[in-house]
Amino acid sequence: MNSIPEPPPPSLRLRIDTQALADNWRALDRLSGDAAAAAAVKANAYGLGIAQVVPALWQAGARQFYVAHWSEVPASLAHVPADAVSVLHGPISEEDARFARAAGVRPVINTLLQARRWLDAGGGACDLMVDTGMCRLGLAPEDLADEAVARLQVDTLHSHLASADDDCPQNAQQLGRFREAIARVPAKRRSLANSAGIALGADYRFDLTRPGLALYGGVPRSELAPHLRQVAFPQARVLQVRRIGAGDKVGYNATFAAQHEMTIAVVSLGYADGYLRAWSGKGTLECEGRVLQVLGRVSMDLVICDAGQVPELAEGDWLDVRYALPEAAAVSGLSQYELLTSLGSRLERASA
Ligand SMILES: *Cc1c(COP(=O)(O)O)cnc(C)c1O
Repeated sequence: MNSIPEPPPPSLRLRIDTQALADNWRALDRLSGDAAAAAAVKANAYGLGIAQVVPALWQAGARQFYVAHWSEVPASLAHVPADAVSVLHGPISEEDARFARAAGVRPVINTLLQARRWLDAGGGACDLMVDTGMCRLGLAPEDLADEAVARLQVDTLHSHLASADDDCPQNAQQLGRFREAIARVPAKRRSLANSAGIALGADYRFDLTRPGLALYGGVPRSELAPHLRQVAFPQARVLQVRRIGAGDKVGYNATFAAQHEMTIAVVSLGYADGYLRAWSGKGTLECEGRVLQVLGRVSMDLVICDAGQVPELAEGDWLDVRYALPEAAAVSGLSQYELLTSLGSRLERASA
């Protein structure tokens, strides 16, 4: 068999501003007051890439990292010690529990079954999640009296806020229930606040905060906006430039028809890259500050845009995709979480 040469660089990339990432973490750590800021890096660091994100956050000073899946552990352990990693989805099988012990990472125990499974596997330091009213993962408050919970060696007692990005009574209600849980479970540390929770005030911060979205430039509450910068910058190359005339129809289902002659660019960016149909007719690309509006539907692996402002545009040129998260969410109707985590694997992650 012939040896296959290294393929040339891809036609789209995700520039990660690691300086902005580190600054965002430092700002959130500062805003956390006496509490330390950890970092939620599940889902490949919200799509940005564990390999780019985790070392930058460690260097900035983060000492606790949260992944969701066991499969996310090895990539994290390439950059940080095992006792700095917790696995949010917990041990749902004996195999998970054995893996946690062998790797030295902490499982987050979410159910009584998980607690018993962890103890049966030999136990050791773990985290414990209590549900305070989101009905997502975590033990019900009444389960905390179980003898299995008493036998756990709890490093961090967690709960998670459902609506911290919103001013609603649920936040104070969850805080009250978390305080009751704290009174019942001895633990080294306590942690409640996600990114938005950090802005809810000192009562919500406890020993450790767990920002995710805001690290990556997401703005869940306006109070945080002045402290955060964009981190993820998608860029894509022009594959073709064409002239079209009045009446020519563009893209899937011909939802755009030219009214007059125009120059359009066909760009290497589409559904599999996270540029979903929500961007049809709404997305904006840029070339040195000049705007290229998306025309018609995103059409599988491609978008077509109006290149009228950029007369010199040529095949192979790079364009910036406008992706400042609060604005991008407002324009696309996608959440800031979706905008990050859907960024596809074909974008080459590059720290810069
Ligand atoms: C994802 C996650 C976070 C981070 O939440 P953001 O809203 O992204 O800041 C914190 N804690 C838990 C348990 C999570 O699952």
